[in-house]
Amino acid sequence: MQADYVIVGSGLTGATLARMLTDAGREVAVLDRRRHLGGNVHDHEHESGIRIHTYGPHYFRTGSARIWRYVNRFTEFAPYVASLQTIVDGKLENWPIAASYIRRVIGETWEPSFHGTPTNFEEASLAMMPELIYRKFVKGYSEKQWGVPAATLSTGLARRFDVREDDDPRLMKQEHQGIPRNGYAAFMENMLKGIDVQLNRTYKREDPQVTARKLLVFTGPIDEFFNYDEGRLRYRTQRREHVYMPDTDSYQPCGQVNNPDPGAGPHIRTLEWKHMMPAEQLSGVRGTVITRECTEDSDEPDRHEYPFPDQVNADLYTRYRERANAIPKLLLCGRLGEYRYYDMDQAIGRAMSLGESILRDGAPSGQNGNRKTAISALAPA
Ligand SMILES: Cc1cc2nc3c(=O)[nH]c(=O)nc-3n(C[C@H](O)[C@H](O)[C@H](O)COP(=O)(O)OP(=O)(O)OC[C@H]3O[C@@H](n4cnc5c(N)ncnc54)[C@H](O)[C@@H]3O)c2cc1C
Repeated sequence: MQADYVIVGSGLTGATLARMLTDAGREVAVLDRRRHLGGNVHDHEHESGIRIHTYGPHYFRTGSARIWRYVNRFTEFAPYVASLQTIVDGKLENWPIAASYIRRVIGETWEPSFHGTPTNFEEASLAMMPELIYRKFVKGYSEKQWGVPAATLSTGLARRFDVREDDDPRLMKQEHQGIPRNGYAAFMENMLKGIDVQLNRTYKREDPQVTARKLLVFTGPIDEFFNYDEGRLRYRTQRREHVYMPDTDSYQPCGQVNNPDPGAGPHIRTLEWKHMMPAEQLSGVRGTVITRECTEDSDEPDRHEYPFPDQVNADLYTRYRERANAIPKLLLCGRLGEYRYYDMDQAIGRAMSLGESILRDGAPSGQNGNRKTAISALAPA
């Protein structure tokens, strides 16, 4: 494979860059080790006709009119605003936590249990709420998700949720929200239409068959690129158990129900995919499909989901990043290349700004994301 720009990875980062460079008349080739396009932004159809997001639920949202216009170029979005629930004391409650719940359980006047500057995730969470609430909603979920005590996780993780004074049930408040009407796989196919993509092909560093005349863009794991010679970065992943219930029309009241209680099973959440599909696509569908997700350490690069939010891994990433920045004609980016959790709109926005600097200066500038911000952006709801 030879091209001016070779892009390893057809996920949102690689696809956005490939689209921008191609639209600007540059010669681009993409390769990906998976059998499908789109990286983790992918879905497939269950035999019942229900569409499952292959790598966990993906809710698209953005506050940026520019990114919303951009994604609407490739797909129509069906309106979908994620509202989650969580099981607490056997009952369904809102997630993020509603202040009215705290008033009901603690009393009209309540205050957070931690004062001062938090030094870890547990303290940062307790700075938002009373300890009893933290124990019911946050501690068990986070410890299942990361497999370590919450007090060893970084403070930045707590920025992914809040306590809702107005009881707003929306998971995220961005102006534009939805799910591609015809699915994520079709969305990514449209984004890469007309671009040379080779699937089922793993790139190894200095592969003699691959020549990038101007720039190699690598969106895979940064430690894999360097053959793990400084050590492996830690990731969490999820095992997904799908259950088809042909005689059940509806299993739970919303698409995602969290399961924070360690005594209520190892799974952290249960998804019911029908909620995420447009109503007109459900006529003729029999039954429902639910998926339970259990988190575990990932030892296979193709299964990496969440970068691990602690200092040891942040330091290891920095060592790899310094080496990557010193290699000419190389851009290592994306959620795996920057060891950073990006929402879809953030991955697109980041790729757009890298693409603009490639088109303007011939090479990306400032590719090394600041590690402090990187840690604070980690982890999903
Ligand atoms: C469980 C989960 C849920 C999420 N939910 C949401 C959500 O609700 N809303 C939201 O906005 N975002 C969500 N996201 C984030 C979203 O998935 C990412 O923003 C997006 O996947 C980032 O795209 P990327 O291209 O950087 O990475 P990826 O999608 O991982 O793409 C990287 C690609 O590179 C390929 N590759 C890697 N190494 C090699 C190699 N050596 N050779 C060849 N190919 C290689 C991989 O096969 C892959 O296709 C979620 C993420 C996870 C993990």
